[in-house]
Amino acid sequence: MSVDYQATAVIGVVLPEVAFYQEIQIAGCEHNPIEGNFCSQCGRPRNIPVSKPIPEYDVDNNVLVKRGASSEIVRQASVARISNSSGDFLAVGNIVRGNMEINGFSLIPYHGPSIEDAWHIKKLLKEILEPLGLWDEEKFGIHALLHVY
Ligand SMILES: [Zn+2]
Repeated sequence: MSVDYQATAVIGVVLPEVAFYQEIQIAGCEHNPIEGNFCSQCGRPRNIPVSKPIPEYDVDNNVLVKRGASSEIVRQASVARISNSSGDFLAVGNIVRGNMEINGFSLIPYHGPSIEDAWHIKKLLKEILEPLGLWDEEKFGIHALLHVY
């Protein structure tokens, strides 16, 4: 049993992970009951709420995407999942991660963007997050987060 510490630096925004999920209803059984809250054949609930990532959040590739009219990806931003004592978060933007040892914290080399690049990152994130209702000008910035697992 060991504890790993990981540090993440991000130029962008950090939002509660739950903001990137939506609840959908799926059929509780295969009988497809027409009325009532429970199936008359098996007794299971007619619908079960399931939490699913929003279509813009590509969990497998750790990106948030904005699609064009013919559903091709026109813009995308990197995403990192962070869990710590404050909860579960997604960092979106320019992300640098590094592992640290308990004894002898080592610095993470950072070859990040310049101040000029930060302006482009902000523009990109606003384009992607604003239509989702997740853009907050004041949340954009440089964030340093510790992840323990
Ligand atoms: Zn049933």
